Formats: sequence, structure tokens, C-alpha cells
Amino acid sequence: MEKVIEVRNLHKSFGSLEVLKDISFNVEKGEVLCIIGPSGSGKSTLLRCLNRLEEIQAGDIEVFSTNVTKVKNINKFREKIGMVFQLFNLFPNYTVAQNIMLAPVQLGLMNKKQADAKALALLQKVGLEEKKDVYPETLSGGQKQRIAIARALAMNPQIMLFDEPTSALDPEMVGEVLKVMRSLADSGMTMVVVTHEMNFAREVANRVIFMADGYIVEEDSPKKLFTNPSNKRTQAFLSSVL
Ligand code: ADP
Ligand code: MG
Repeated sequence: MEKVIEVRNLHKSFGSLEVLKDISFNVEKGEVLCIIGPSGSGKSTLLRCLNRLEEIQAGDIEVFSTNVTKVKNINKFREKIGMVFQLFNLFPNYTVAQNIMLAPVQLGLMNKKQADAKALALLQKVGLEEKKDVYPETLSGGQKQRIAIARALAMNPQIMLFDEPTSALDPEMVGEVLKVMRSLADSGMTMVVVTHEMNFAREVANRVIFMADGYIVEEDSPKKLFTNPSNKRTQAFLSSVL
């Protein structure tokens, strides 16, 4: 197995508040790791540390065997890691296709023609090819999030990070976004997914981490963690959400 993310003894504080306490875990190529846990437990901060959106106080994070804190060209490094947030942050004054292709074209990775073809292929992947030329304001929340996923994929990332991608959606739109994520997982993408969708974690994750209070409390296969968690805090959390 090829390790693509390796986190060792990570500590992260905001001022005097320590929010990540001695976090260690690995992610193998092609794996889907789901991170669950109560609000405020440090899940978003942990994701943000992986592509150095946050500086860390102690520990090591290696992504593709590169020490994240020592990366020279951070933008080049981040091209390999797609990120999708709870709020989609599409650019309102650009069409859907322009939103998807803006970064690769601006960075000179593709010409206009290649970008058009790529945008169309990605729109087909997320089932929205008919929305190519509309503006984001005309889309539903679920459609916006599928476009945000397509936009992240436009850079040909090797890892995708998701931070509660369905939490801001109306319930009837959650399924369409999870479906896109599921097919991405099936295609072999390496994914780290912070989610409250326990069914998704149970069915799609290779491993699940339960975080509370800045710690990894439990890490296991979804089968074990959801049916027979060994830690009391995991049990209490699961019984409150399931
Ligand atoms: P989660 O995603 O699990 O809800 P977060 O990683 O967002 O948790 O937050 C973990 C803790 O860190 C919380 O106590 C939160 O208030 C705090 N925190 C997050 N971001 C910042 C920040 N930029 N400055 C200060 N405190 C922060
Ligand atoms: Mg969060």
C-alpha cells in the first residue's frame, strides 16, 4: 500500500486553546477516510492543516512524502489536493463552465479549448452538463455543490478533502451530492471526508475516525466502529446521531 497522507503527533493551537492534541493517522492511496465527531472537536482544523491552510505547532504532516510545513511552492502543492467546503463559494459573476475552468486556465495548465472540453467532461461526471452556461444563482444548493466538486476536480487533484459538503443543504439535495462523492470514491480517488452522514461513512469509508475534544478517540473499520464501538464517547456520540 502506498501512503499518501501521514500525520504524526500533530498539535495545533489557536493562542492558548489547543484544538488538535497529538493526532496521528495515515491515509493510503485510493482510500476513503471519514472523520466524524461533535461540533468543535477539531475536524475542520485538521483538514485545513493537511494543505497548510493552518500552521501547526508540533508534529509532522507528510503528503506524497513531502513535509507539508517545509513545502516551498505551496500553490503547486495545493494543486494536488482538491477541497470542497460546506459553503460552495462559487463565483457569482462567472458561468458554471467558467467557474470550473477558471483556475486551470489562469494557471496556464490548459488552453481555452482544452478547458471547454474538460469542463464538459466534468459536468457530465456530476450530471449537470445542461447547466454549462448558466450562472450559479440559478442553481439549487445541491447543484452548486456538485459544481464545486467539479471545480475542485478540474485541477486533476490526487486527493480530495471534503468538509461537511452536505451540511448546508436541504435534506432532499443531500443524496445527489453523496452520489457524486460515492462515484468519485468508486473511481479510486483518495478522499478524506468530514461528515455527519453516518450512512455514507458506513457504506463508503474504508476507515472511520471519531474525534472529540481535539483527540482521535477511536479509529476503526466502519463495520466495527458503527456496530461495536469500543470507546464510551464514541458510543454516546453514535447513539445521539443514529
Ligand atoms: P469542528 O470542525 O470539529 O466543528 P473546528 O476545527 O472548526 O471543529 O474547531 C475546533 C476548535 O477550534 C473550536 O473550539 C473552534 O472554536 C476553534 N477554532 C477554529 N478555528 C479557529 C480560529 N481561526 N481561531 C480561533 N479558534 C478557532
Ligand atoms: Mg467543522
